[in-house]
Amino acid sequence: MIEVVDLKKVYQSGEIAVEALKGISFKIEDGEMVAIVGPSGSGKSTLMNLLGCLDIPTAGSYLLDSKDVSKADDNELAEVRNNKIGFVFQKFNLLARDSILHNVETPLIYAGIKKKERIKRATNLLTKVGLGDRLDHNPNEISGGQRQRVAVARALVNNPSLILADEPTGNLDSKTEAEIIDLFHELNQQGHTIIIVTHSEEVARQTNRIIHILDGELVKDEVIG
Ligand code: ADP
Ligand code: ADP
Repeated sequence: MIEVVDLKKVYQSGEIAVEALKGISFKIEDGEMVAIVGPSGSGKSTLMNLLGCLDIPTAGSYLLDSKDVSKADDNELAEVRNNKIGFVFQKFNLLARDSILHNVETPLIYAGIKKKERIKRATNLLTKVGLGDRLDHNPNEISGGQRQRVAVARALVNNPSLILADEPTGNLDSKTEAEIIDLFHELNQQGHTIIIVTHSEEVARQTNRIIHILDGELVKDEVIG
C-alpha cells in the first residue's frame, strides 16, 4: 500500500539547506505493523510528515494505494488524510474543555456526517477502547492511558486504513504503554496498517518490522519474527 522511492526532503532556511532525508526507499504492505526508530534529528518526524501527507518531498515519489501523492496540492493532501489516515500523537492533542465523546465526534463534523450518526460512531469506538462508561467525562477527568485511548478512538473515526503514531507511549508509564501497544495489536489484527515512531526499544520489538533511520538515511530494515 505504501511505496516510497528515493524520498528526499531539504529544508531551506535562508542560505542554509538542511537535507533531512537523503533518498529513502521502502515498501510497506497492507496489514503490517512497523516501527520507525533513530536518534533525535535523524529525520523521523520529517518521514512521518511525508507519510501522513502533511507535507510533500523535495524529490522522490510516494505511492499510497498506487496513487502518487508526492506532488499533490494542499487540498488533495487534506482529502487523502481525511480518507485514509488516522493520527495519534505523544501529547494526545485532545480538546481539554470538551467531553471525550465530543473529542471523538469532532472529525466527523468536518466530514459532514449528521449528529445522530456521529454520536453513534463515536460511542461505538469509545466502547471498543474501553471507555463506554466515561462518554461525558472531560480529558482532565481520566488517566493518561485513557486519554491516549480517546486519541486512538478519534484516529479511527474516519475508518482509516493507515494509522500513524508519533511516540504514542512517550508520556505513559510502562504498564499503560503495554495496554496501548495491545490496543494497536488488536487494530492491526483487524486490518489496519500501523506505523509507530518510537524511542522505546521495548515498543519497537513488539512490531513486525523495525526501520532504522540515521542522518536521513535508512540504515537497517529489520524483520521481527
Ligand atoms: P527527528 O524526528 O528524527 O528528530 P526531524 O525530522 O525532526 O528528526 O529532523 C531532521 C533534520 O531536519 C534535523 O537536522 C532538523 O534540524 C531538520 N529540520 C526539521 N524540520 C525543519 C524545518 N522546518 N526547517 C529546517 N530544518 C528542519
Ligand atoms: P483540513 O485541511 O481538511 O481541515 P486538517 O489540516 O485539519 O484537514 O487535518 C487533517 C488531518 O491531519 C487531521 O486528522 C489532523 O489531525 C491531521 N493534522 C493536521 N495538521 C497536523 C500536524 N501539524 N501534525 C500532525 N497531524 C496533523
